[in-house]
Amino acid sequence: MDFEKAAKLFETLENASSRLEMTSLLAEFFEKTPESEIPWLIYLLQGQLGPSYESINVGMGENYIEESIAKISGYPRKEVNATYKKLGDLGLVAQELISKKKQRALFSEKLSLKKVFANLLKIAKASGRGSQELKIKLLAELLNSASPLEAKFITRVPMERLRLGVGDPTFMDAFAINLISNFEKFLPKEFKQVEKQLKEKKEEKRKEELARKAKMRIRELIEEKYNIKPDLGFIAELLKKKGLKGLDDVKIEPGIPIRPTLAERLPSAKEIVKKLGKCAVEAKYDGFRIQIHKKGDKIRIFSRKMEEMTPMFPEVVEGIKKQVRAKDAIIEGEALAFNEQSEEFQPFQVTIQRKRKYEIKKMAEEFPLKLFVFDVMYLEGKNVMGESFKERRKILDGLIAKGDAIELTKSITTDNPEEIDEFFEENVEKGLEGIIAKDLNASYIAGARKFAWIKLKRSYKGELTDSVDVAIIGYFKGKGKRTKFGLGALLTAIYNKKSDSFQSIAKIGTGMKEDDLTELEKILSKIQSKGKPARVECEIKPDFWVLPKYVIEVIADEITKSPMHTAAREKEAGLALRFPRMIKLRSDKTPEQATTAKEVVSMFKAQKHVKAE
Ligand code: ATP
Repeated sequence: MDFEKAAKLFETLENASSRLEMTSLLAEFFEKTPESEIPWLIYLLQGQLGPSYESINVGMGENYIEESIAKISGYPRKEVNATYKKLGDLGLVAQELISKKKQRALFSEKLSLKKVFANLLKIAKASGRGSQELKIKLLAELLNSASPLEAKFITRVPMERLRLGVGDPTFMDAFAINLISNFEKFLPKEFKQVEKQLKEKKEEKRKEELARKAKMRIRELIEEKYNIKPDLGFIAELLKKKGLKGLDDVKIEPGIPIRPTLAERLPSAKEIVKKLGKCAVEAKYDGFRIQIHKKGDKIRIFSRKMEEMTPMFPEVVEGIKKQVRAKDAIIEGEALAFNEQSEEFQPFQVTIQRKRKYEIKKMAEEFPLKLFVFDVMYLEGKNVMGESFKERRKILDGLIAKGDAIELTKSITTDNPEEIDEFFEENVEKGLEGIIAKDLNASYIAGARKFAWIKLKRSYKGELTDSVDVAIIGYFKGKGKRTKFGLGALLTAIYNKKSDSFQSIAKIGTGMKEDDLTELEKILSKIQSKGKPARVECEIKPDFWVLPKYVIEVIADEITKSPMHTAAREKEAGLALRFPRMIKLRSDKTPEQATTAKEVVSMFKAQKHVKAE
């Protein structure tokens, strides 16, 4: 495929004003893309060169990118840099300078998607001596043959700015649309009925309804597989090759992270018992959630965002080798800094210091992590996600040998609310966050927040039932004393899973220190969006829109109804946070992992409930 076609698609997507428009643009384009090329296209659309969990670092220093642009446009470095200062995006610089090139290319070819992807991958993989020169050469080689529009998007890849704001659910919707139009080619058994009805029914409406139902079911089937193998390029290729049947080839395997199961909230032990009956109740540790994949001696550790963190936690890797009694396994737990001398848990602020690329050995000695394991998903070639929690915990009991680095989470089994309250107090006194109750009969539900897990936190005793994690969608220039930071307040949104959109919930100007303001301005100015991003629903206009990327944790006095905000909006009013204060950046969450509209609604209701008691 010519890269020109992809570049035109990127341009249209960049200007798309709604998610629906994005979905149909993508569906149409995927239909025409050859199966062997679709993974490349999808990774580029995600601003990546592979699935997120492979963490392929596409970044290249700005200086080197400027150098490549200078080399092929004939403009001196100084001028390239001046244009960059003016336009603020090297993609736009490449586009402008290439459109008025000073020199003719010696050798220029029509760029294919394959060539662009291959060169970018080589850039990402180049390391060691001479790698910078090689990167400049590889980028220049592409820019040399690129049209101005192509150059804009190519340059944004090593700038790590290609994200076009397409969310994973949007991709999956587009796949589902295409499968429904080719329905008959690969109809699985369960759709035979639908097909029959589709053919028999004459009325347009009925037909539409059936097609909608079938699409929803197809979408669910795709997501089930995406939850155990979050690689959209791979899934798209399989679907093109084999239709829905291709999904049978997607299996859980050590080395590929599973999307984590998530906890619901309830305001009291009584309500938990009402919901679950007899259940397991575990201490809720406040550290990093990690998923550990063991395949023989090869250990990989993934974060909640499914980024690889293995090099950061060498003592956990050692612990796994010593204490896990299995050749192959996937387990999950919470790792936190623990003081062996005083036998005390360290606060989260200490644990977070372990998320770093340098001085790892020193920090591992100073603040060693202890891993509290709470689940197992795979053991010796067998997917155990479908087993009940009771069974999985039994497996865990036999799986972890005694030792210093790993322990099972502290747990009791009960149907007595008083016992739960006692256990809760005991844990809070030790400095833990609270408890998590678990349904003894539930399987491991990847990627979803269901009542299989229910959390009860210390903070629920206050008025607002919990802190809220919100995605930043825009920001306001600072006024008065804050003018110098270029940022005075943030516009934030929760995530609506159903509509795959970000809905505004609060404007936040409190809780940020001066350093935070500078840092936030620096990262946000890089992801500014020309207009309101397609997946954002908001009626307030910030000074700058940004693509949803960063998540912050916020505490507020309460959730109120507000006509200004669009969060979980019903009739005229949405929900808003009253007196919101930023607590911290949640770098372990993607925007789609922000608090959802559904959660905010139940927090709003629970808050009324607490007040009434
Ligand atoms: P929070 O901000 O409350 O930690 P979250 O949005 O990060 O919530 P949830 O799924 O709502 O995640 O809450 C469960 C989280 O609690 C897990 O992601 C995990 O990191 C942590 N956790 C601590 N102890 C346990 C435990 N015993 N079992 C399961 N999860 C635990």
